Amino acid sequence: MTVARIAYETYIRSDAWRNSPSRLLELERSGGLCRLCGRGQPEVRIEIHHRTYANFGNERPEDLTTLCSACHAVVTDELRRRRVQILVLPVLSDTRRCLPETAIACWGVIDA
Ligand SMILES: [Zn+2]
Repeated sequence: MTVARIAYETYIRSDAWRNSPSRLLELERSGGLCRLCGRGQPEVRIEIHHRTYANFGNERPEDLTTLCSACHAVVTDELRRRRVQILVLPVLSDTRRCLPETAIACWGVIDA
């Protein structure tokens, strides 16, 4: 495991991240529902996705997106696969709902 990965894992498990005002605001704004498929607990596990790591450790609300674990896995896998492309995730006001299986086609992708 790299030093960066260890730092990431430590932060994601920290109270600083759990209690981050931006994280809590994003959870509140999303109603605790996945921004892509619209599902929530207890049906699915809810996670907060970093749209960018530019402010990692001091995130802004717009840096974060509420996703269920299934959609989060799809997004993360797709971002890794398409390192030279930017996955276009919904903005806060976007009400589209996509299922994880069709999420990539639903969201769209632009070249970086
Ligand atoms: Zn979802």
